[in-house]
Amino acid sequence: MSISDLRCDLCGTMLAGPAAGVRFVYHPGVPALRDDTGLVCLRCWDAATGTMDTTAVARCAVCAAPAPRQRSLHLRRFDQPDPWRLCAEHAIAFLNSLATVQPKLDPATFRFPGDGQGPGEGEGPGEGEGPGEGPGEGEGPGDGEA
Ligand SMILES: [Zn+2]
Ligand SMILES: [Zn+2]
Repeated sequence: MSISDLRCDLCGTMLAGPAAGVRFVYHPGVPALRDDTGLVCLRCWDAATGTMDTTAVARCAVCAAPAPRQRSLHLRRFDQPDPWRLCAEHAIAFLNSLATVQPKLDPATFRFPGDGQGPGEGEGPGEGEGPGEGPGEGEGPGDGEA
């Protein structure tokens, strides 16, 4: 993150410096997908988290619904070790309000588009060998032998 990126992810206000904002870290239950580039101004942070129960355990900090590990967003301040969780619905709402989250989480799969494309999935070898190219094409019988 460079200095020019010191901008609130929620309201877009330029921040005078790192101390003017709150850096936060989140991942969708998979630490490997962690994103630690979140930054919002103090006002937005308070507005966004002021109503959250950040001490909830395995529950959504907004609605207190059960938040299973891999179906929730794990969120914490960069400078604090204890994350809290948001259920899928509130995670999506939160993330989609951020200016910097590209791409957005897919509500259906709770994954960022592009995640989960493991090896072997999807495009296999042989792409382009459509059934239209039948054998013998170009070798028509009688062609030129009329
Ligand atoms: Zn802001
Ligand atoms: Zn919730």
